[in-house]
Amino acid sequence: MSARKPILIIYTGGTIGSVHDPRTGSLVPIDFSQITSHVPELNRSGITIDAVSFNPPIDSSNINPSHWRKIATLIRTHHKKYDGFVILHGTDTMAFTASALSFMIEGLKKPVILTGSQLPIGMPRTDGRENLLSSVMIAALRDKTGSPVIQEVSVYFGSKLLRGNRAHKQSAHSFDAIVSPNYPSLVDAGVDFKVNHHALYRASEKPLKLNTRFESQVAWLPFFPGMTYEIFDNLLENDNLRGVILSTFGSGNAPNIEALKDMLKRAIDRGVTIVNITQCGHGGVKHEMYATSLMLTECGVIPGGDMTNEAAITKLMMLLGKTDYQEEIRRDFTSDIRGELTTNP
Ligand code: ASP
Repeated sequence: MSARKPILIIYTGGTIGSVHDPRTGSLVPIDFSQITSHVPELNRSGITIDAVSFNPPIDSSNINPSHWRKIATLIRTHHKKYDGFVILHGTDTMAFTASALSFMIEGLKKPVILTGSQLPIGMPRTDGRENLLSSVMIAALRDKTGSPVIQEVSVYFGSKLLRGNRAHKQSAHSFDAIVSPNYPSLVDAGVDFKVNHHALYRASEKPLKLNTRFESQVAWLPFFPGMTYEIFDNLLENDNLRGVILSTFGSGNAPNIEALKDMLKRAIDRGVTIVNITQCGHGGVKHEMYATSLMLTECGVIPGGDMTNEAAITKLMMLLGKTDYQEEIRRDFTSDIRGELTTNP
């Protein structure tokens, strides 16, 4: 069994590291050294911790692919030196970052755990202390052979460890803010950590590699009854557009009207990749269940199965960043590449 190495905490920002500014009454970031001083239990866990911080820390609404690259590069640079990584991140876009990192990092064999909190760590009822402490302890878990128990990008929230690319922020209020609607939890934290071994992801034996290019010329378009198709068409006609996520009804249905069909076909013929994700919070797209989804298949729209919106968007951005080749994008988008998609529902 190899010797224990420290866990690296990467503080990016978000509520977990915020305090109330008495002057303005709004939340402002604190220096990271103050976070560890708020969680003295970390020093008693027996786990050695190092920390790095974004300077300045950012609200996660401001996160973009350059920040995903920064986090992934930190992980690659320090990969050999640490047993695992805990990323403190705002909850608002945590599921996007977790999904993006899962697709960016190939051959990951160590834990990368994102966590944050609904209440700042300095507040009496904060959820940040437990989230941080449990994330660090789960990151340090090893099996009987000495290998890390968690070997994937994940999110710890509400006493559960979730697969990162299955996570979704469902509540702006509850301590169980982040959920995994279509996949079981990886670890349930009660009195002990109960690991759901059957649910864990294992990468094939490949060297660690980063895919760092993301295409940002993509749009996310929800359908709603009474929408104006001209506006929709204006967007589809945009010359820079390379990809679209259609946010459809139920099991992947859209109005089956000729005008819409023509717009979608024209865009696809121009080389725009269009994928279908349900706007329901649970379940997935089943193309061809109804005439209203069959028409999308006929146009060449790619079904996204039970992927979350966060996983579908970041996966499409990553695939479009890699290639222009339509068939390759379709093949990879409909394949389960990091445990984000149920291929035999
Ligand atoms: N606005 C904050 C953020 O996402 C909210 C949070 O951390 O929960 O950065």
